[in-house]
Amino acid sequence: MAQPQPISDRERRKAEQVSAILEREEKRQIRLQACQIAAKTPESRTAEDLQFIQQHRRLVEKAERQNREVVLDEQRKLEIFDSDAEIEEKCRILANALRSAKHTIVYTGAGISTAADIPDYRGPNGLWTRSEKGESCVDPLKPFDLTKAKPTFTHMALLKLHEAGLLKYIVSQNCDGLHVRSGFPRSSLSEVHGNMYLEMCGNCEPEREYFRSFDVTTKTRWRRHRTGRKCHRCGVDLEDTIVLFGEKSRTAVPMNWEMAQDHSKLADVVLCLGSSLKVLKDYPCLWHRRQKLYIVNLQWTPKDESCHLKLHARCDDVMQRVMALLNLIPDTFLLEKDTLTKIVVPLRRRELTNSSDQTPSSAEVAHQPGWLGQGVKGLIKRSKEESSPSGRKRKKRKSEAALP
Ligand SMILES: [Zn+2]
Repeated sequence: MAQPQPISDRERRKAEQVSAILEREEKRQIRLQACQIAAKTPESRTAEDLQFIQQHRRLVEKAERQNREVVLDEQRKLEIFDSDAEIEEKCRILANALRSAKHTIVYTGAGISTAADIPDYRGPNGLWTRSEKGESCVDPLKPFDLTKAKPTFTHMALLKLHEAGLLKYIVSQNCDGLHVRSGFPRSSLSEVHGNMYLEMCGNCEPEREYFRSFDVTTKTRWRRHRTGRKCHRCGVDLEDTIVLFGEKSRTAVPMNWEMAQDHSKLADVVLCLGSSLKVLKDYPCLWHRRQKLYIVNLQWTPKDESCHLKLHARCDDVMQRVMALLNLIPDTFLLEKDTLTKIVVPLRRRELTNSSDQTPSSAEVAHQPGWLGQGVKGLIKRSKEESSPSGRKRKKRKSEAALP
């Protein structure tokens, strides 16, 4: 009787590889079938489907859960508008709250700058939304041009509220510098994600600020914040102040976290304007039980359930009504009164010739699109990676690291 031929190592490895491929393919087919069955209504499931469910119940339940999350996610992206009568009544309640509050603070997000032609992130035409649809980050019908950005009615209204003693502090997620340009005092402002007009020397003691009349982030990106210019005093490389995903603030200003925390503890009224609160909710130091929360945002926010009042309207619409109810008239923003022009540190002659950032004069505010325009592709790529299942754990660690 002939002895079976011993198989070689090479043949054995090949057989193992084929077996592994077949096994992976079988699992993929089962997952696919689970997704197909999960997408069906219970009535339309066949006897074969029901048998499959009995064998792979957990897989089907997981797919059903994911489907529900997708639907919920889409619903949360919808912009809702309160009726005119609703918003009038809500503004009355908000105006009364501001009038009688002991310590009001405001949290602002990209939604207050959309009227300034700066795109928001999560609105229907926001940067993330467009990217998720595979569209260009820039709306071809409305390309954003930072040279046109100027403080909106809401920015000016907040300044007036502060002058009237009805607003103590602002915590802003916006890097567009519009609160500073509106004239809002920096001693009452935390720009927790930085200011695109500010570069800093962290080597000097105390930290040395260099406000510029142009966007300082044209050459910087994620974890590379050197702007290409040097400190006039110590010669060390200057860095922008922008804080991106997973990064910690590198300087104390313009974030002013200690002040933000102190005011948050004192606040009895918190007004959130134009922020999805998806990032701010992760800063526990900003949220306290005694605060009454008023939210102005067209879309869902994770704080909706715990807020005192939700206003579905544009920030400028709400603030116009509220200011009228309070008998306060905000100043109109004038370029010649732009606070930035008073605090800029002009480039030295050599920096002007070496730098591509031409600064015509400190009195003229010249803008070039920086991280918002140029760096956004990388941001979105990272954002997508982090939202993938394998990236979620990493993202969690990063967001924890970003806490003050
Ligand atoms: Zn220095």
